Amino acid sequence: MPTDPIPGEPLYDVLVVGAGFSGLYMLHRLRSMGLRALVLERGSAVGGTWYWNRYPGARCDVESVDYCYSFSDDLLREWTWAERYPPQQEILRYLEHVADRFDLKRDIRFGTTVTAASYHENAARWVLLTDDGHALQARFCVMATGNLSMTKPPDIPGLDRFEGEWFHTGHWPHRPVDLKNRRVAVVGTGSSGIQVITTIAPDVARIYVLQRTPNYSMPAWNRPLAPSELAATVAHYPARREACRESDAGIPLPSPTRKAVEVTAEERRRRYEEGWRRGGVPALSFAFSDMFTSEESNRYAQDFAREKITTLVEDPAVARRLSPVHHIGTKRTCVDTGYFETYNRSNVELIDLRTQPIDRISATGIRVGDRHIPLDVIVFAVGFDAITGALTAIDIQGRGGVPLRAKWSTGPRTLLGVQTAGFPNLFMVTGPGSPSVLSNMVISIEQHVDWIADCIAHLRRCGADTIEPTAEAEDRWTAQVDALAAATLYPQANSWYVGANIPGKPRTFSVYVGGCGAYRDECRRVVAEGYRGFRISRQDSAGGPPSPAAIRAAG
Ligand code: NAP
Repeated sequence: MPTDPIPGEPLYDVLVVGAGFSGLYMLHRLRSMGLRALVLERGSAVGGTWYWNRYPGARCDVESVDYCYSFSDDLLREWTWAERYPPQQEILRYLEHVADRFDLKRDIRFGTTVTAASYHENAARWVLLTDDGHALQARFCVMATGNLSMTKPPDIPGLDRFEGEWFHTGHWPHRPVDLKNRRVAVVGTGSSGIQVITTIAPDVARIYVLQRTPNYSMPAWNRPLAPSELAATVAHYPARREACRESDAGIPLPSPTRKAVEVTAEERRRRYEEGWRRGGVPALSFAFSDMFTSEESNRYAQDFAREKITTLVEDPAVARRLSPVHHIGTKRTCVDTGYFETYNRSNVELIDLRTQPIDRISATGIRVGDRHIPLDVIVFAVGFDAITGALTAIDIQGRGGVPLRAKWSTGPRTLLGVQTAGFPNLFMVTGPGSPSVLSNMVISIEQHVDWIADCIAHLRRCGADTIEPTAEAEDRWTAQVDALAAATLYPQANSWYVGANIPGKPRTFSVYVGGCGAYRDECRRVVAEGYRGFRISRQDSAGGPPSPAAIRAAG
């Protein structure tokens, strides 16, 4: 008989880690299937990344009407998005509303960090340990831990001696932070840094931007959403959402069909200008189909973006220092509202760390080369241990006590980005090997949550207890994800996509670049073929594993 790893403790059907977009919808789905589920969340409220990233200017760069759930028509109709791109506060209010509307909070344990998760093979159960010393058990565990939720700590010597205040954008305090008339340094010029810099520049006494790598940034052209425009979108929402699901990036734009290298210079400019006027991350990347596969095509788009910087920044020397040289899009393209123009202000100074690296932080400021910059506040916009960081932060141990950290020591390996071999009944929402960060996250989250919920329902129908990928199927999928990426320019940049920002992290490009639509098709095919590549088993040996026919019939 199976042994109970923690006798007397309730047995959940599913434990979910994280109460962001993924965890909330996962809980809703599991509850509607009649399952006993509990969500464990380290924050004191729902929201995930939007709970923590409350820095000045934090805003999503996917349009609000696409960056929301589609599972409930009523929810869609009753929520009014105020702007084209939603600010952090509005997304948080939306997620609070979702949690209340679907009565989710009663099954969420807030202020609870999961420190370990281990699989107990005899009982086919997961046991999760929390930072307050509790152990919980369940048949299934879903890691809804997010791709950009584990902050990269500032690694500049001397920070412990700094007598001013310092903040990480990804862990911004919940109390008001007054930056008015203060001398502020911002370290980092990714999406977070660009938003902070643009937002605080008018208020602070002086802002020093410590830039190591300049980034491409596209105009947001953010604006209020007129009620009539929102109503028109909602009226045709099913078609818009379907277009997102079947698209490459989870947004309702048709994929380009023409190559930049095949058209005239005039046609290229026309398409780039059109994209620039539309704005957003896809401004240039949706102009031509070969942007991520052809150096030449990518260079055309780079040249256009650099030219725009020279028109926006008055001082040519500053414009030069702000001009990126990497392949556009291979580090996440940023979206801004007046970022480059911010450098025309007299209280903004750009410090190029490529010519003068940071020496150290002192009690009163930062030393760059032989210059000391006196500061009241340092803002670290230095990013995240992305994609795998939140998973490997938990001591996850699978079959035979094998740690996930050891299994992934040379890079993550998964089947479809939802499961990894040797860790039965452990699911990841938007895990490595899925489109995740190269897509509109909410589109990918809904698809993964539905896939996982349907999978659990399927196991119940066919009387099975466990599911995990076979090693062979996982090898094939990991190789396919690698091969797709290798055919693009993505792996060439020193980006967080490849883990280059975290010392010692294995360099792998573990995002499926084939697009949301193609990925979705593959997920559907796997299910239609009886969960091809997954091993489905019954725990009670007397029952034996369900036959392939039973698995297909249950589907
Ligand atoms: P990021 O893109 O990783 O940017 C981190 C920045 O910090 C880079 O400029 C990096 O320079 C710099 N940096 C790191 N360590 C440093 C050091 N020791 N000294 C000097 N500079 C250092 O992080 P992020 O801006 O937080 O954005 C991460 C991702 O979150 C984005 O790409 C995006 O996907 C998402 N995000 C989205 C939004 C939005 O929707 N608008 C907003 C914020 C974040 P190097 O490049 O040289 O390493």
